[in-house]
Amino acid sequence: MCIFCKILAKEIPAEFLFENGDIVAFKDKYPKAKTHILIVPKKHIETIKDLKEDEEDEILVGKMFLVARDIAKGLKLDGYQTLFNVGRAGGQEVMHIHLHLMSHQ
Ligand code: AMP
Ligand code: ZN
Repeated sequence: MCIFCKILAKEIPAEFLFENGDIVAFKDKYPKAKTHILIVPKKHIETIKDLKEDEEDEILVGKMFLVARDIAKGLKLDGYQTLFNVGRAGGQEVMHIHLHLMSHQ
């Protein structure tokens, strides 16, 4: 099981900020910004390259951005960055897709 699947299974602790039927969000353990949160689908998909051309995955990725937007709003962040690292060459270390939400605020 990958490290994020273990966090999802509550086998490894994390500071959760959000959870619904298909997405969770928790604080990055090694933050690279004052606010650094990871938005993670419950479905294990290794990289953005592995997304299927179907409605399920299209909707899932859209929902991830809306969760990031809603968390940022809840934290009263005026501005922030959202980022997917894609593949080892793209700086991805955990092979389970996740959207970084980062802000200096
Ligand atoms: P990436 O390099 O895009 O794959 O991002 C992986 C992120 O996961 C990094 O920012 C790490 O700091 C973070 N990370 C690694 N292990 C954990 C963990 N156990 N709990 C929370 N975040 C983690
Ligand atoms: Zn996984």
